[in-house]
Amino acid sequence: MQYIDLLKKYFGYDSFREGQEEIIKSILSQVDTLAIMPTGGGKSICYQIPSLILDGITIVISPLISLMKDQVDGLNQIGIPSIFINSSLTRKELEKYYHEILNNKYKIIYLAPERLENVEFLEKISQIKVSQVAIDEAHCISQWGHDFRNSYLKILDFLNLLQERPIITAFTATATLKVKDDIIKQLKMKPNIFITGFDRKNLKYSIIKGISSLEFIKNYLKEHKDESGIIYASTRKEVEKIHTELEKKGYNIGKYHAGLKDREREQYQNDFLNDNTPLIVATNAFGMGIDKSNVRFVIHNNLTKDLESYYQEAGRAGRDGLNSDCILIFNPKDISTQRFFIENSPFHSSEEILRRKYEKLNLMVNYCHTSNCIRSYVLEYFGEIPIENCNNCSNCLDQNEEIDITIIVQKIVSCIGKTGMRYGINMIVGILSGSKNKNLLNWNLDRQSTYGVLSEYSQKEIRSYIDLLIGNGYLEITNGEYPIVQLKSTAISFIKNKENFYMKSIKIEKKVLSENIEVLIELKKIRKNIATREKVPPFLIFSDKTLDELSTKLPQNKIEMLEISGVGEIKYKKYGAEFLEFISTIIPLEEE
Ligand code: ADP
Repeated sequence: MQYIDLLKKYFGYDSFREGQEEIIKSILSQVDTLAIMPTGGGKSICYQIPSLILDGITIVISPLISLMKDQVDGLNQIGIPSIFINSSLTRKELEKYYHEILNNKYKIIYLAPERLENVEFLEKISQIKVSQVAIDEAHCISQWGHDFRNSYLKILDFLNLLQERPIITAFTATATLKVKDDIIKQLKMKPNIFITGFDRKNLKYSIIKGISSLEFIKNYLKEHKDESGIIYASTRKEVEKIHTELEKKGYNIGKYHAGLKDREREQYQNDFLNDNTPLIVATNAFGMGIDKSNVRFVIHNNLTKDLESYYQEAGRAGRDGLNSDCILIFNPKDISTQRFFIENSPFHSSEEILRRKYEKLNLMVNYCHTSNCIRSYVLEYFGEIPIENCNNCSNCLDQNEEIDITIIVQKIVSCIGKTGMRYGINMIVGILSGSKNKNLLNWNLDRQSTYGVLSEYSQKEIRSYIDLLIGNGYLEITNGEYPIVQLKSTAISFIKNKENFYMKSIKIEKKVLSENIEVLIELKKIRKNIATREKVPPFLIFSDKTLDELSTKLPQNKIEMLEISGVGEIKYKKYGAEFLEFISTIIPLEEE
């Protein structure tokens, strides 16, 4: 069978994505292959399809156990016999699997790199023909990468132990030249190299400024009900705060950070993967092992340390190819948090590394400030040719709407003026919000006429309005040990001339509902039932994209159902009837 037929038969897809076909051809011509493709670009198919054609077994080395299980479940779902071997298996399971491997039951074996040093495993594997060793997340072998793993250095010894040298294939989404060269050097490869574009067109990048992040998140979630999303925050404390706030609002939301017990973390992660809790708020500890395809949005509540991390974390959105949001909420305060992390990083060894980290942070901050296309900024950062207007980022799409905040500005200016321009920002915020702060009460500031006039806003919001007025040259902060807020002449003429003040604010787009939303909801229920029965996450049964297509095309028979993207033969056999049966209740089946 030709590789193109295998794509439809097993995976249910009609055409290859950029790079896939060339990479598969290269592997099938027995040449080592290094592929650099963006997250969600479809790397797995590049080694999985050849594994069906090559006559021995394919070993996939992957760093994370949780990812392995999903991959293997997914492959077995579509009829490609696969197994993973890692420390989570019992002795009995291990013996059974070794026996089956020796009897050629499997096409693909997933391994954690640590297993490569296991004598028993090496003894077993030396008895069979290994035709391909695919190295996933290959940047882990390089100290220049952002996720170096010592155990990856053992791969070369392992390759040398095999009777015949297999084809070596390496996959990563990390693009830098240094990392690429290092992978080739460390693995002693002579590869064909494929670098596909980094641009993921279905991701819309946005930067939000000048609004309380919690307020933004709440508004966003209101418009994106029932969607699955990740909210990243930079500290455990912040994760807890957002989690509590959103839970209070009635959202079904999980959390994930290093301070939770292993068991708790695992439970939250599984609930997220299984769509029991569609939302999760997490530190960057979350995600490496997450391969959930139907994540519709990734919101960063805080700045990340560099664009590599941002691109990787935000890239967990939209792996199924459907339009998804990547939103970063910028708050200047986060720059100092990141600086603190750099200064206190346990790993930094030299001045040179520190300097590089600061440089990367600066480029990350510039990403938030640029008024040009931010997609282009990312592409350029990764060494690609910039574009002028992508039409799918917050700078290119003028999403801003003007909000009249004249009254708020009048109240702030008046408060500062009436209290004699003698206080710092915190005290002004305290007065406007009606705080019961001890100093404030001692100084009788609660008797001011502007006390509590902005009490309907949070202190953080009031602070961001003041920041905006500083940025716009209405207010200034004096230098010195006790900086105070002062009015500038623009603020005085603003009051005198009864001017208006408009703030640009991000418009939250209403969720675009599927054309056939009721049907889609029912299809999701069927998927969830099957997933529970089969003990795998729902997206491994069918992706959101497949359900979307089912809900609009409403296939009436096997032929029509097989035309839907993501429906392969095995999956049709297993689940086709259940879905067709339901769809037939919407439109009566025509006589065949
Ligand atoms: P990566 O490992 O590069 O991040 P994956 O291999 O996990 O990406 O693929 C991401 C998603 O894209 C998966 O849901 C996969 O089934 C899907 N996919 C891969 N190739 C194709 C294709 N040719 N057509 C449609 N969907 C595809």
